[in-house]
Amino acid sequence: LASRDFHPADTVISIKGVEIGGEQLVVMGGPCAVETPEQIDEIARLVKAAGGQVLRGGAFKPRTGPYSFQGVGVEGLIMMAEAGKKHGLLTITEVMTPEYVDVCAEYADILQVGTRNMQNFDLLRKLGTIQTPVLLKRGFSSTYDEFLNAAEYILAGGNPNVMLCERGIRTFETYTRNTLDLSAIPVLKSLSHLPVISDPSHGTGRRELVVPMTKASVAAGADGLIIEMHTDPDNSMTGDGVQSLFPDQFAHLLSDLEKLAPLL
Ligand code: PEP
Ligand code: MN
Repeated sequence: LASRDFHPADTVISIKGVEIGGEQLVVMGGPCAVETPEQIDEIARLVKAAGGQVLRGGAFKPRTGPYSFQGVGVEGLIMMAEAGKKHGLLTITEVMTPEYVDVCAEYADILQVGTRNMQNFDLLRKLGTIQTPVLLKRGFSSTYDEFLNAAEYILAGGNPNVMLCERGIRTFETYTRNTLDLSAIPVLKSLSHLPVISDPSHGTGRRELVVPMTKASVAAGADGLIIEMHTDPDNSMTGDGVQSLFPDQFAHLLSDLEKLAPLL
């Protein structure tokens, strides 16, 4: 079902007037984690003002260590839904377990499956039983074939609304947090009809690389971007402040993308 061989036309996922996988470049921006109502409201305002269409933010955070901040939970879903509604943005949030799929789908427009859960087959099967669009992140050590098979679980369950997200893979390089696999973008676009989204924030782990790798992703054919942005990155509650853009950088980047898009 994920293969282009049996489905030649691009899949376009339409959510409240925003089309993902069509002509429009879709930008999802926001903090790694939802922290407070004021934080998410202000960031939503800035994402909208910059021209973004989707507000990102984690309420449930998959942290490498058990003692790190784990997210504010359902409260965060509520805060983000309010901010999204107020500022006219769609919302995307990560869901980590099958039990939380329904509540996350109640509050968010798009559900994100994180890199660490790409092969959580119970979660994928559960996501196949609903129609809420899913952004599936590539496992950081997964091949394209494994990635497309993970998507297949959701599609086979009956949910056709899947987008693929390249978020960087683990290589021998340590300067960057991950290595954003730019080739994944055209390869996945050729093997599959599903929309392809790039995450240059987790893909590099370094703020100064997010701008060039966003532009490179667009040049490589990405249908959209998911980018971390924070009003106070140095004090963000996850370690991802170092890869979060400042609001003015985010706004400049989006205006540059508007100039770039017609050239491609
Ligand atoms: C995130 O989007 O904040 C996140 C945890 O992403 P990933 O699963 O790609 O690490
Ligand atoms: Mn993050």
